[in-house]
Amino acid sequence: MPESALFWFRNDLRTHDQAVLNRLISSCASLHTTYIFNRSTYASTPWGFSRTGAFRHAFLLESLGDLKDALASKGLGLHIRYENAADALLDLCKTYQIKKVYAQELPGWEEQKMEKIVEEVLLKEGIELILHSNHTLIDPLELPFTLPRLPEIFTEFRKKVERESRILEDAGELSTFKGSSKSSGTFKCDFWPEKKVEIDKRTVIRFVGGEQAGLTRLQEYIWKGDHLKNYKETRNGLLGADYSTKLSPWLALGCISPRRIYAEIKRYEQTRISNASTYWLYFELLWRDYFQFVALKHGPHLYRSGGIKQQMQKWMFDSEKFERWRQGQTGQPFIDANMRELLLTGWMSNRGRQNVASYLVHQLKIDWRAGAAWFESQLIDYDPASNYGNWNYLAGIGNDPRENRIFNPIKQAENYDPKGEYVRLWLS
Ligand code: FAD
Repeated sequence: MPESALFWFRNDLRTHDQAVLNRLISSCASLHTTYIFNRSTYASTPWGFSRTGAFRHAFLLESLGDLKDALASKGLGLHIRYENAADALLDLCKTYQIKKVYAQELPGWEEQKMEKIVEEVLLKEGIELILHSNHTLIDPLELPFTLPRLPEIFTEFRKKVERESRILEDAGELSTFKGSSKSSGTFKCDFWPEKKVEIDKRTVIRFVGGEQAGLTRLQEYIWKGDHLKNYKETRNGLLGADYSTKLSPWLALGCISPRRIYAEIKRYEQTRISNASTYWLYFELLWRDYFQFVALKHGPHLYRSGGIKQQMQKWMFDSEKFERWRQGQTGQPFIDANMRELLLTGWMSNRGRQNVASYLVHQLKIDWRAGAAWFESQLIDYDPASNYGNWNYLAGIGNDPRENRIFNPIKQAENYDPKGEYVRLWLS
């Protein structure tokens, strides 16, 4: 371990389960941390809206504010930067005479490209970029296959991983740093969304960004509310805070570690009950992992027209129909209710997401990438691998082994909203 180091926060905005940062704390005399805003993620899409909408942006700012406070309580500063990552890191390294930069490796294609550029730029100045993985439950080094051999079907992946992979332990809390560390920069910038966020009162839950709020939600869902024992039965719900965990926004930014959730599931199984529901939350976390590895395996194809199947397909685009879908005005009540919830809160249930995605692609016959881009902009829990992986799946160009999976919104509403309460909530 070096005398002085720079730790670059990416989608790991937390102080728990940070094994590498903890090792740096115990070995460095001078330790700096930074978060670098990525201007390109605020650019406008070809469909006329920003890649980062106001809800997600607000959640990110809250998360960073919380991180800054948590780091300060451990004796660490945080440098907030806005230029491109390579320039920002180089500048910090020169200012504080640092030769080693540590950062989380991410599976998205843009993130991977950024890592390569940063690595090259730093290396020219004799600085090393050292990447580690802590975004998934299963460490990539624990996978029982090489990446090119990652199964294209989830069940195959799950069975092999369940049999052969270890889940590494949550690294616990951060120790206090006694050496030298500084802060710089403010949360003020020119490329942020202008609009002030006002979350509709009907929101399932008030999502507050940050590690503290994420850990509180975990405690409330699993322990205080005791909801985990019924998760499998309730997870397809549409109304209220507790039909599912609602942990995805905190997972997406890494405010909470998947290994912390796993540890809590195990503790609950040992002290309260172990049943199909407790297993099912772990099962869903494996879906999340699976999409992360799919993103890593397929690189740019995940975001392209033909998806990971690289299927030649011509997609249409009708701006009026797309706008009606986006605004929740298609005339199909179940679709419109879900789209309005997304528009007004930055949230939609998994059941809703499957339906509206299927509707856009199969009923309206619109380019799936426009829908995925709207989700990217609007969802508080946007995660590149989970979003594009699920859209590929729903558009029939991804990991779905079934041909022509199409959701019928009328039947879906009968099954999941039999009394019409959800539709009434959003359409009245
Ligand atoms: P729970 O039911 O409580 O599940 C626990 C956790 O398991 C979730 O927080 C999530 O991390 C993981 N998980 C569950 N289902 C999935 C899934 N299908 N794919 C990947 N991970 C899953 N999830 C995101 O986190 N970010 C996205 O950008 C995203 N985009 C999606 C787009 C489409 C078209 C679809 C169909 C699904 C998308 N999902 C995305 C997956 C899923 O809808 C959300 O993870 C889930 O609704 C979040 O709610 P929850 O935390 O209460 O989930």
